[in-house]
Amino acid sequence: MTGIAMRLIIDRERCVGAGLCVLSAPELFDQSDADGRVVVRASTDADDPAVHEAGRLCPSGALRIAGP
Ligand code: SF4
Repeated sequence: MTGIAMRLIIDRERCVGAGLCVLSAPELFDQSDADGRVVVRASTDADDPAVHEAGRLCPSGALRIAGP
């Protein structure tokens, strides 16, 4: 079966640095030392359930999963 990958869309302007994404998936997200806003690690895959959970937890809507 062939799947079409989901895309993770980050809006750093909306990020309020709450850190819930980092708390829920520290292997996928980090926070910038400069401004506290989200930094996505290179290996982050939008199909990962942990990414969906982080998007659900994010209070500002800065993390969005886009369908194919
Ligand atoms: S949970 Fe949302 S607001 Fe908080 S650091 Fe992550 S992206 Fe930013």
